[in-house]
Amino acid sequence: MKISEFQKIIEDIYFERDSQRGVDKTFTWFVEEVGELAREIRGLHTHSENKTRLKEEFADVFAWLATLASLLGIDLEEAAHIYRQGCPKCHKIPCKC
Ligand SMILES: [Zn+2]
Repeated sequence: MKISEFQKIIEDIYFERDSQRGVDKTFTWFVEEVGELAREIRGLHTHSENKTRLKEEFADVFAWLATLASLLGIDLEEAAHIYRQGCPKCHKIPCKC
């Protein structure tokens, strides 16, 4: 799935509800999901087999990021293009900054 396809499906599923909620409250949800990802990453040290949960938390954070981008009129795939030529500052792959 391309980034643009992901953003589109997230819009189809959540845009109406998320636009009613607004950017500020949606951003709060995004941060909460980042917190859940942090807990899952920390938990990895004790439950090393829980890759499925970890993968789900990454998907959730990505989905909330995509919906926020949509609310703010940002095309995520277009935004990601700044990394296409390498590091946006030094233009090297890998970064030499
Ligand atoms: Zn660099």
